[in-house]
Amino acid sequence: MMNKSDAIPPLEELAAILGTRGFSRDPDDMAPWLTDWRQRYQGRALAMVSPATLAEVVAVVRFAAAHRLPIVPQGGNTSMVAGAVPDDSGRALLLSMRRMNKIRSIRQADNAMVVEAGVILTHVHEAALEVGLRFPLSLGAKGSATIGGLVSTNAGGTQVLRFGPMRALVLGIEAVLPDGSVIESLASLRKDNRGYDLRQLLCGAEGTLGVVTAVTLRLVPVLRQRVVAWVGLDSPQAALDLLRRLEQRLGDSVEGFELVPDIALELVLRHIPGTRAPLATDCPWYVLVECGAVTAGDELQMAFGAVLEDEINAGRVTDAMIAANGAQAEALWHLRDSISEAERHDGTAAKHDVSVAVSDMPRFVMEAAAAVEQRFPGVRVIAFGHLGDGNVHFNVRAALGADSQAWLVREGHDVTAFVDDLVVKAGGSLSAEHGIGQIKLAEFARISEPARLNMLRAIKQALDPHGIMNPGKLLPLAPEDSIP
Ligand SMILES: Cc1cc2nc3c(=O)[nH]c(=O)nc-3n(C[C@H](O)[C@H](O)[C@H](O)COP(=O)(O)OP(=O)(O)OC[C@H]3O[C@@H](n4cnc5c(N)ncnc54)[C@H](O)[C@@H]3O)c2cc1C
Repeated sequence: MMNKSDAIPPLEELAAILGTRGFSRDPDDMAPWLTDWRQRYQGRALAMVSPATLAEVVAVVRFAAAHRLPIVPQGGNTSMVAGAVPDDSGRALLLSMRRMNKIRSIRQADNAMVVEAGVILTHVHEAALEVGLRFPLSLGAKGSATIGGLVSTNAGGTQVLRFGPMRALVLGIEAVLPDGSVIESLASLRKDNRGYDLRQLLCGAEGTLGVVTAVTLRLVPVLRQRVVAWVGLDSPQAALDLLRRLEQRLGDSVEGFELVPDIALELVLRHIPGTRAPLATDCPWYVLVECGAVTAGDELQMAFGAVLEDEINAGRVTDAMIAANGAQAEALWHLRDSISEAERHDGTAAKHDVSVAVSDMPRFVMEAAAAVEQRFPGVRVIAFGHLGDGNVHFNVRAALGADSQAWLVREGHDVTAFVDDLVVKAGGSLSAEHGIGQIKLAEFARISEPARLNMLRAIKQALDPHGIMNPGKLLPLAPEDSIP
């Protein structure tokens, strides 16, 4: 691991390479980027460096390696686990990738797009649409999250059901390794058996193995038919049953299937301006469903409507609304995408991003919520999200009227340990899509099998022996390690 050193490195060398737009020690410039999105962690940095080219990233990493300085890569800083902010030692270089924001090429014949790491997800969506293609990954933070961050957290989002998480959409990668060497693997090879899959190793690495500088992304044909609906029903089990029936009758056209409890919808309606309830009937649970087809016509809408009618007649669905146009569809997605923001306005919560087998999720949601509410009287569980992927955000809020911050400090740790133990018992994961970052480090160490942690540490040690890449994130320290 890195040694502590009080010697001040010759930062003027870096400043000269990066120029005024690429180098800052101004506290006002750095301040917005030193606090995580959930405002739980406040870090400090020696400088914020913002390279604009691969060569400049190489120069930054070589400089950091030579002076044993920690590097904290950062994209949009929307990490839910405080993965992109430095610790408070003030020794780290905060490496903002936001100036590496070019779309290098769109290879239509390969259904692929080569983009730099700092490109924002929304811009990828727009660029793909301009050539009649689309990038099938979206999430609430799409206006700020960058491709480098999405790759490095192996982000999921709302279309995993059909297209998989970020890993499944990365066809090639370019990255700077901790010694300053460059792995250039942007060719969109569908088949490549040269041993370990190095691009996949960097997906989900949370910036601990190197800096992702560019990515080749998989694109898919644009949709010509799109059906978006808001459906009210009785329980998560009824929701999963609906998903399976939709799949049986509509094939793999189901792209999104998001579970929303009434308590989450209430928060959105209360805190997000311009939102309104889609249904006249109040239901305990809702799902937002999206289906798509690449062929033109209206068969999908008709077939979807027929399924819903049958479900309502059978008493399995309480009420439903199908978006009549694109604006209504976006309004429905806005309700879903605003849940995290609405929760934030309502005070802090003990948040968990958990996965279990898809078929077990309905029971897990009900039983775990009941167990938590019994063990911690007064708290409110909001479990929402990607039911079709076996992943919900299982958030526990303080009792109504309580000071949520004080409650979190007092009870948050116990609540999280309780939830994580339930997840382990159900054979699940404490991080379905957000990563480990800083927030989950202690729990990851507590509940993981030693073999998993040892393998992760061995990979880290082999690629980053001096521990300069995003220290204090993802990897629980081995007892013999010291904090850099
Ligand atoms: C409102 C909201 C909704 C969200 N919804 C979802 C969701 O549905 N599904 C989901 O999976 N996630 C979701 N997220 C979290 C998601 O992880 C982030 O939005 C996104 O993946 C991170 O992108 P970013 O550019 O902000 O990365 P950052 O937050 O800046 O960084 C995230 C991690 O990646 C590392 N990193 C960043 N760039 C690079 C790079 N170029 N090279 C190496 N390492 C790098 C950082 O060090 C850090 O560890 C949501 C977040 C918000 C705020």
